[in-house]
Amino acid sequence: MEQQKDYVLRTVEERHVRFVQLWFTDVLGVPKSIQITPAELEVALEEGLTFDGSSVDGFSRVQESDVLALPDATTFQLLPYLADGTPTARVVCDVVNLDGSPFEGDPRQVLRRALDRARGLGLSFFAAPELEYFYFARDGAGDFAGVTDGLAPPVPLDHGSYFDLTTNDLGSELRRQTVLTLEEMGIPVEYNQHEDAPSQHEIDLRYTDALTMADTIMTVRMVVKELAARRDVVASFMPKPLAGVQGSGMHLHLSLFDGGTNAFHDAEDPYHLSPVARQFIAGLLRHAHELTAVTNQWVNSYKRLIVGYEAPVYVSWARNNRSALVRVPPTKAGKPDSTRIEYRAPDPACNPYLALAAVLAAGLAGIEGRYELPPELATNLYDLRSDERRELGIEALPSSLADAVDRLEQSKLLADTLGEHVFEWFVRNKRAEWVAYRSEVTPFELRRYLPTL
Ligand code: GLN
Ligand code: MG
Ligand code: MG
Ligand code: MG
Repeated sequence: MEQQKDYVLRTVEERHVRFVQLWFTDVLGVPKSIQITPAELEVALEEGLTFDGSSVDGFSRVQESDVLALPDATTFQLLPYLADGTPTARVVCDVVNLDGSPFEGDPRQVLRRALDRARGLGLSFFAAPELEYFYFARDGAGDFAGVTDGLAPPVPLDHGSYFDLTTNDLGSELRRQTVLTLEEMGIPVEYNQHEDAPSQHEIDLRYTDALTMADTIMTVRMVVKELAARRDVVASFMPKPLAGVQGSGMHLHLSLFDGGTNAFHDAEDPYHLSPVARQFIAGLLRHAHELTAVTNQWVNSYKRLIVGYEAPVYVSWARNNRSALVRVPPTKAGKPDSTRIEYRAPDPACNPYLALAAVLAAGLAGIEGRYELPPELATNLYDLRSDERRELGIEALPSSLADAVDRLEQSKLLADTLGEHVFEWFVRNKRAEWVAYRSEVTPFELRRYLPTL
């Protein structure tokens, strides 16, 4: 750790860094930052920086509202994307109480706790996301083109589709610049492509340990938005911004390692899945309802989880079926480390720390409880009638935020994983979100009912 701090201080000096941003995340996954000058950095690295937690969503407590942002020196990174070019760096912080104990409201500490539990079983948790998002035009007033009247949908930049190689297109150029910037920041990108919907793009990251990955997802969202804003474009990770086309998911590729060995891999098994992997999947399936409020935390998230748009609606698993909740991608020949499972419910507007903690906890519950994996369902679930589904015992995921919060509230697993502070705040906040939504009269209702009722 001392070495890391020395490295940070040396780099700041050598690269003439003028500002260091201390990053942390609120409970909803909104990025927060306190900016300091290099003169303050050494003390901040040693002692942390005090701030008033009560002004951050999900941090607030009635008394003792002061907490510390304590930099994790291993996350130090120069920020090459700032428009004015001022040499600036960031370091991700853990939030701690004044006595140095982990602060219960900090999502990064929630994930750390879940990872500790895995470590107690001798396992480390790795993750790789596929981040989907849209680019939209801004109008002169700085708003999304078309949205200001509250009725028109946002305007995409192109009309491309899956893997389209579009020419002279701003969206593709922005994605290219984004990937180059991420690589410059030491974030390896595996694939990137145009996605199915107009102006929808995807960036797939190479897997890392889950804590690093949660930090990275926050960073990627920031870089995507920042580079777009510079060209007067709005990049959005909203789960379903346009009706009638696909929404944006954040499929998570997950694996557990036991030392240097992939604990999900079994060369003898026809699916290359170890018993541990099967139990992990079984855990995800059994607890899927409870964790959906965390992986899909907005009213809008549930407009993505509908039939017909390659998003999961039913609780099931399969090797190759894009309507399944858990998919088992093929292990690459000769690469046992590539055995992994893909959890397809999360959307890119989740809090990545809480989402990774929740899916890990569900998987570990499956391992500890030796859950039995139900059979693979290879059929397209979108095509099944409800009686056929019932016969096969296939359950649906929560269909609204209200539904999901009901399931969350009854979950001991999630209460334990999030901790009392985050759990209670989250349930309260999401209930309020639902009430706010229910109080609205939407364009759908006006269009449909006003002329005839
Ligand atoms: N956009 C789809 C979703 O919402 C995923 C499409 C895909 O990558 N196959 O999850
Ligand atoms: Mg993909
Ligand atoms: Mg995709
Ligand atoms: Mg995928």
